[in-house]
Amino acid sequence: MQTDCIFCKIIAGVLPATIIWQDDDILVIKDIHPKAPTHNLIIPKKHYVDQTALTIEDAALAYKLFVEVPKKLSQQLPGSGAFNSIVNNGAGAGQVVFHLHVHFLAGKNLFNL
Ligand code: AMP
Ligand code: ZN
Repeated sequence: MQTDCIFCKIIAGVLPATIIWQDDDILVIKDIHPKAPTHNLIIPKKHYVDQTALTIEDAALAYKLFVEVPKKLSQQLPGSGAFNSIVNNGAGAGQVVFHLHVHFLAGKNLFNL
């Protein structure tokens, strides 16, 4: 656990969050400032700064984070199951919490500009 990290504190149970699902490796919570009708954050319980901190040793975790859990969440959505999964890597890309997380968004076409 990184003591100055909001998501590590949520994972440790020190800060509150609305928990959607979890297992030994991953926690899924509701985003406090939702950008779509469904906006969850899929967070590895181990602290990685961003996607680039993952290595080949983390292949099984990466599969879970980017494929298995998004698929599970999409199967629980009403309708077609359409969703966006987004990772911001670095402040210049809009990352504000420096603990890797996948935004899982549904119920709104984010690219229908
Ligand atoms: P990012 O910009 O990719 O780092 O995204 C960080 C996300 O975390 C934002 O969408 C915030 O709304 C969300 N967030 C920050 N603090 C909390 C919290 N305590 N509980 C739930 N979501 C949070
Ligand atoms: Zn952390």
